[in-house]
Formats: sequence, structure tokens, C-alpha cells
Amino acid sequence: MNTFKEYEFWFVVGSQFLYGPETLEQVALHAQTMTDGLNKRGLLPTNVIYKSTVKTADEIAQVIKDANASDRCAGLIVWMHTFSPSKMWINGLALLQKPYLHLHTQFNRMIPNEEIDMDFMNLNQSAHGDREHGFIAARMHQKRKIVVGYWEDDDVQRSIASWMRSAVGAAESRNLKLVRFGDNMREVAVTEGDKVEAQIKLGWQVNTFPVSELVKKIDSISSEAVDKRLEEFKKLYTLNTADKKSVRYQVQVELALRAFLEEKGAKAFSNTFEDLSGMKQLPGLATQHLMGTGYGYGGEGDWKVSAMTRIVKAMSEGLEGGTSFMEDYTYHLEEGNELVLGAHMLEVCPSLASGKAKIEVHPLGIGGKERPARLVFEGASGPAILISLIDLGTRFRLIVHDIEVVKPIMPMPNLPVARIMWKPMPDLKTGAHAWILAGGSHHSVLSTAATAEMIEDWAEIMGIEFVHITKDTELERLKTRLFLSDLVWRLQ
Ligand code: MN
Repeated sequence: MNTFKEYEFWFVVGSQFLYGPETLEQVALHAQTMTDGLNKRGLLPTNVIYKSTVKTADEIAQVIKDANASDRCAGLIVWMHTFSPSKMWINGLALLQKPYLHLHTQFNRMIPNEEIDMDFMNLNQSAHGDREHGFIAARMHQKRKIVVGYWEDDDVQRSIASWMRSAVGAAESRNLKLVRFGDNMREVAVTEGDKVEAQIKLGWQVNTFPVSELVKKIDSISSEAVDKRLEEFKKLYTLNTADKKSVRYQVQVELALRAFLEEKGAKAFSNTFEDLSGMKQLPGLATQHLMGTGYGYGGEGDWKVSAMTRIVKAMSEGLEGGTSFMEDYTYHLEEGNELVLGAHMLEVCPSLASGKAKIEVHPLGIGGKERPARLVFEGASGPAILISLIDLGTRFRLIVHDIEVVKPIMPMPNLPVARIMWKPMPDLKTGAHAWILAGGSHHSVLSTAATAEMIEDWAEIMGIEFVHITKDTELERLKTRLFLSDLVWRLQ
């Protein structure tokens, strides 16, 4: 998938008529220079377009209406080069439906000693123009990202880039269609949720389709198509089994699932081992390969984790690392070296793999089907995050946990699935305690590509609660925070 190509961001500069046409020409020229500079530097995931210098309430309202109506516009970046009286922004901001970044910067880095005069001062006054703008956003409770610093600096551009990723995540969320095969696993609570509220709040269209329709699609895949696809798989993965028949079946399922999702315009799906009616194997290799190419997935009918997997994949497209559906499986409780082993029955995304994943065939006790082919690998080490969206009945809570993925400390030769090992922050005891306290699911999205900042900004854009477990997390503080948060969200 090439998500970012579908989106652009608009740079809108605030001013007024007070300073005369020459100043406004300068403002426009500077804004274009900055836009070109930002795009050329290559740190942003997609283009910023200099849209206009707005000088009146009508111009502001118009550019915001245009942004709302544009499918390509994923967000607005605003900056007050001169002084833009903020009452002019009220009617426009009241209409704004797109993510919004307030860039507090200045065209020149230095104060030019010799050249500075009152004309220079009147042209370069974002120091107070942006304060006027900050006030109106605060007064109107406008959701926003504020980035402060010189626009040519990498840290400033990286902050803008990170928010652009969150904004594209928001656009993808609002357009997301998710296909469910079967319901949630019987009796499981955390994978349930209010699909109507999810659509109102997050835009997700979550709908179910009979497994029999998928089976028909599987049966319609030709042997030649399977041959061709298998050749592609052999380039990506190492074939480590003599059981070609089982592998071919998964390839057939992958082609069928992909065609099915494309027909429905869906970028995420869920299924359950409890409803594989008419299927020979639980999709393993098939699901893993689909995830590897950008689709969201959740096991046991977990549509929330599937949608989040897709959204995080979209946000972090083009970045190093990967993103997968994940489950905390079992612990290594060696004192001082406590670790979590993450895996699933089969479905871990190969974007997390260290090196080439192996296609293997092993029996699967759960589900009562034939031996499924799956990808087996170890996860690549590095800093990562776990993400869990839970439905608390009156609101959604998004939990992010900072972790460090490590190379598995033992080979585990008899474990027939992909495995990821990590150290939760600040340590396993505190981290797991905090996660359980916050109500985090046993299913999560693990990403070595996305950052907590991206997810936090996404949560703010979507208007949902965000809880972050970090190296600095203390349980008492977190308890207080969750208690207060409950009160606050009841008032929303
Ligand atoms: Mn599970």
C-alpha cells in the first residue's frame, strides 16, 4: 500500500491588510520558500502545499471549508508570520474538521543587527502573532499540535513529520472498512466493544461476512495463481518444510482473502478459530503475509486490535521497523532479567522479523483443523511500543507501553511460531502492573516503527483518552491519574 501518496498538507499563513501590499508579498514569498525547503529536506512523509496567506475572516473561513471538503488534505499547518487578529479566526476554526498544527517559527533565524528597523520588525512578528493565535485556540478548546523552533532545524521538521503521520492515521481511521469473519471468541470480554461508538468516534465501518463466502472465494482460486504466488513467497521467505500441500493451501487462502478485502474496500480483517466452517486450516502464513503488506489483523474476532494494526501501519509507512498484531504469551521471571515472550497461535507479522522468516508446517491443537503453514522467526531488537485500545463502556481508552525488544535469550527449537521477546518499561513488575491497572488487553499492536508521540497525537485528534506507560511510570501516580481521568471523562 502507498498511503501517503493519497494525502497532502496545507500551509496557511495568517496576516492582515494593515501592513500594505509589499509586506504581504514578502510574507507569501517567505511562506513559499519555507514550503519548498520543508519538502526538499525529505524528512516529511508527504508534501506540504503553500495554500494561502489569509487576511480576513472570510478568507480564513473559506480555506477551512476547502480543507474540510478536500479528501487529499490530511491537515492544516498554520503560522502567523505577522499579526493576525484572532477574532478573524473564530468562525473558520468553529468549522474546522481537519487535524491542525500550529507552527511557531520565524522566517529568519537571527536578528540582523544592521538591517533591523521597524519594517523588519513589522514583517517578522510571529513572536507575538503566534501568541494571539495560541489564545484563540486555547479559548475555543481547539485540538492542536504545537511545534516551536526554527523551521529549518531537523528536530522541528521531525516533530511536524510525526504529527503528519498521526494526521494521516486519522484520515485512514475515518475511511477504514474492516471485514469480520465470525464473531468474537466466546466469553472473552476485552475483545468486545461498541461498534457504533467506534464508527462515531473513529470512523471505522466494522461489518461481518459469512465464512462460507470466503470459502467460495478460496475454491475459485486457480492452481496457476497459487503457483505464481508461491514463487513470490519463495523469494521473501525460506521454505522449511516438505509439506507443499499445506503451504499451497495457505497461499490459496492468502489470494482469496486479499481479493475479498479488495472487493469490499477493506484494509483490515478479523477471524476466529471458533468459526472456520469449511476451511481446512486456520489462516497463518496467509494472514501473516497480508499483514506484511499493510493489512490490519486481529485474532479471535478482535476487530479493535485489527483496526489499530492497520492504522499504525499506515502512520508508520516508510519508516524502519514493523508493526504487528501481538499477544503477551508467557513470562521469563529470572530475577533481574524479567522478560515477556510475545507470540500468537500463528499470526505475527513478518515486518518484525530479524532476517528471513521461514515457512513451516506444524500441528495446531486449537481449532481442530489440519496442520497450518505459518511463518516462524525471531523479532528484530530495538525500542518499540505496545498499543491497546479498550472500550470502557462510556469511552475508549488508548494505552501505549514503551518496551525494548531484545533478541530471544534462548533458541526455543520446539516452539513452532514466530516469537518476539521484550522488556517492558520501567521493568516487568511495574510495567505489567500498570498495564493491568489501566485495563490493557492481552492483545495489542506491537510497533518498532511508530512512536508513542505519533499515537498520542492520533488519540488527541480522535478525541479519546490516552495513557502512556514509560520508563518513568510510578504506580501511585498512575492510579491517581486514572482516578482523575475517570471523573474528567464522565463530564465529557
Ligand atoms: Mn489471542
